[in-house]
Amino acid sequence: MSIIIIDNSPTDQEQLKFLLNLGGYFELVFSDSIEDAFKRLDIDGSQDNSEKYDLILIDIFMKGIDGIDTCRRIKSVEHLKDIPLIVVTKDISMENMLTAFEAGAADYISKPLDNKIELLPRVSSALKLKAEMETRKIREKELLKMTVLLEESNKKLQNANEMLKSMAAIDSLTNVANRRYFNNFYQKEWKRSVRLKFPITILMVDIDYFKDYNDIYGHQQGDECLKRFAHALKSIPRRPGDLVARYGGEEFIILLPDTDTEGAVVICKLIQEKVARLKLEHSGSLISSQLTFSTGIATMTPDNDNTPESLIAVADKALYQAKTEGRNRYEVYNHET
Ligand code: GH3
Ligand code: MG
Ligand code: MG
Repeated sequence: MSIIIIDNSPTDQEQLKFLLNLGGYFELVFSDSIEDAFKRLDIDGSQDNSEKYDLILIDIFMKGIDGIDTCRRIKSVEHLKDIPLIVVTKDISMENMLTAFEAGAADYISKPLDNKIELLPRVSSALKLKAEMETRKIREKELLKMTVLLEESNKKLQNANEMLKSMAAIDSLTNVANRRYFNNFYQKEWKRSVRLKFPITILMVDIDYFKDYNDIYGHQQGDECLKRFAHALKSIPRRPGDLVARYGGEEFIILLPDTDTEGAVVICKLIQEKVARLKLEHSGSLISSQLTFSTGIATMTPDNDNTPESLIAVADKALYQAKTEGRNRYEVYNHET
């Protein structure tokens, strides 16, 4: 424990030394002028290796100084503000005492100091307070570090969550949106179409005789074929709201918001051409030597009497019709048929 004593009276310095030594405090530095004390305390923060003190004892009635102002000055410096300061002075008036406390003094003791053994418990409690404050500061710093770490790991978690979300949105085999993503997206588009009174079209696409494809070429090549097929599907619809998703197995769904049946037929024909250009051999198909697919198309201008599911259901009906009509074709749902 290092204590700096700012006092220009040699007698008082002797007495303080005696008392403090009695209390087991031996690391004492005496300063008999404010200039010297300010230098030692590095008041202007100009020294790299300034001396460190745990306690300041100061006589505020030294000749030629304003003691209260000195206390204030010391307390206003960042690296000194937490060092407790005990005012040791003669005949302190109540008013002066209060001003000293206001200026940042932690305690005071009056001169003369002969046998003022009470100095020791005061010094001891001021030092204890400082030690506690230091522990608290260390804890606060640790807490701050923990908060920063927590924020960092939260950010990482958020990123991981986002990645998981995108993983949950994409079908891992075909790389198009999965059914879950489609459902969410479709609900939103549906509501938007209700609001704006735009038509919305659904295409249900199902590969023909795909079970036979697997049986003949094997499941692995079946997977490969699904990938290429999905890629072809995805390359045609290009508007921002358009969405191609894997609906299940070898069945895909295409959402075309703000699109009528005519527009959807154009898209469907483009997909047929694209898939034909892939020239995927399918010797097990009863209708072609190449892989084909059937499509059900349904359009609705959504209102509150309809549900998103009802449009899917009628697109599914149209698909069933395309299958029964002989496959490798599209059918458009209408109420009459
Ligand atoms: P249809 O022309 O009437 O649609 O006949 P289909 O054989 O295509 O229809 P079905 O529903 O009888 O069979 C679908 C087949 O799709 C069954 C299954 O072997 C195959 N399939 C579904 N998902 C996958 C997949 O992820 N990978 C592979 N390789 N095959 C799949
Ligand atoms: Mg099929
Ligand atoms: Mg199917």
